[in-house]
Amino acid sequence: MTGLIADSGDLGLIRESTAAIAARYGHAYYADRARAGGHIAELWAELGQAGLLGVHLPAEYGGGGAGLTELVVVTEELAAHGLPLLIAVISPAICGSILAAHASSEMKASWLPALADGTRRMAFALTEPDAGSNSHNVSTTARRDGAGWSISGGKYYISAADECEAMLLVARDGSAPAGPRNPLSLFVVPTGAPGVTLQPIPTALVCPDRQFTVFLDEVRVGPDTLIGAAGAGFRQVFAGLNPERILAAALCNGIGRYAIGKAAEYARQRKVWSTPIGAHQGIAHPLAQAHVEVELARLATARAAELFDGGQDAASAANIAKLAAADAALAALDQAIQTHGGNGLALEYGLADLWFVTRLMRTAPVSREMVLNFVAQHSLKLPVSY
Ligand SMILES: Cc1cc2nc3c(=O)[nH]c(=O)nc-3n(C[C@H](O)[C@H](O)[C@H](O)COP(=O)(O)OP(=O)(O)OC[C@H]3O[C@@H](n4cnc5c(N)ncnc54)[C@H](O)[C@@H]3O)c2cc1C
Repeated sequence: MTGLIADSGDLGLIRESTAAIAARYGHAYYADRARAGGHIAELWAELGQAGLLGVHLPAEYGGGGAGLTELVVVTEELAAHGLPLLIAVISPAICGSILAAHASSEMKASWLPALADGTRRMAFALTEPDAGSNSHNVSTTARRDGAGWSISGGKYYISAADECEAMLLVARDGSAPAGPRNPLSLFVVPTGAPGVTLQPIPTALVCPDRQFTVFLDEVRVGPDTLIGAAGAGFRQVFAGLNPERILAAALCNGIGRYAIGKAAEYARQRKVWSTPIGAHQGIAHPLAQAHVEVELARLATARAAELFDGGQDAASAANIAKLAAADAALAALDQAIQTHGGNGLALEYGLADLWFVTRLMRTAPVSREMVLNFVAQHSLKLPVSY
């Protein structure tokens, strides 16, 4: 299938290396693991050993020294083989980017090489029951406790917390007075620390990364677990939110390619009248339209990554890419299911089980409505309703 994005040089090599590994696993591996409640440890280890998880992390800390542009290629290519890995967006992309930008050299040395080679993973714990889209409302609180901190509160929908040795946790600074814009601090909290409890949240997603409520009951952590300065967390978290949005877009673009690729192949083969069903415009045009939308989303994603890597303001581009890619992926998947007729619903064809993980991308990591709020306020200078 030809597309608008043509990789050259290193990007082409990164795509080929990712594709070579991903092709040996494929969607059936992903779906089987997800249904059995298992993880994708072998695949993760291979990607880490090949240097693909840390392509964007600094070379002095074991990364590839490249940028988000390269990680976009890895994430998209995995999803294009039916392997949309939430953990790839979380551990190397959000957590790795925040640590690379704001952690002390000791914390970077301790974590970045291991995030890059895949031997350690980190979850990202921002969302709370009363602080979803409104991250300022976080009530999990870190209070000074001797030289360190005592953290209490709760997080929910924390992906892959059971697979991760630690979570990058956003907490309110207990020493500051409560207000509408609480100062936030970031900590690296071990998931096995006394006082941390994980409780699985059953969801409709068929995905090897499970979701958890995380309870924190006076969890004591040392001073070395704080990232950057206390109370400076909101600014620091932004180091990870644009990469998160760009990588979520890349994941969607990969799903879109996967779905359209399968649908086009099916439409070339399947005959119920005298011609393959792909000859009917009722099948061909919606697939062609889906391909156009996915290609446009890929361009938007590549542009957002390019701005981020160039040190420019990538917020609008990241939000736009994420919304476009999530919508394009869901439309592509829906059309691929439709193209397969009844088989579209059969697990054997590897489409229907991707529905909820794809649908998730309209809600998380940032909802459609919050993206549109951002665009309305920042691009169109419209007033804020909240
Ligand atoms: C499977 C899954 C995995 C997740 N993984 C993680 C994770 O690893 N780490 C983490 O921290 N979080 C995670 N999340 C949480 C996710 O980021 C949030 O669900 C998402 O940001 C939306 O927040 P919310 O669920 O509280 O919805 P709410 O904020 O309650 O919003 C509900 C609805 O109201 C709309 N809305 C809210 N405010 C406005 C407004 N001002 N204007 C217009 N519309 C508005 C929203 O767009 C949404 O449609 C995950 C969620 C899911 C479902």
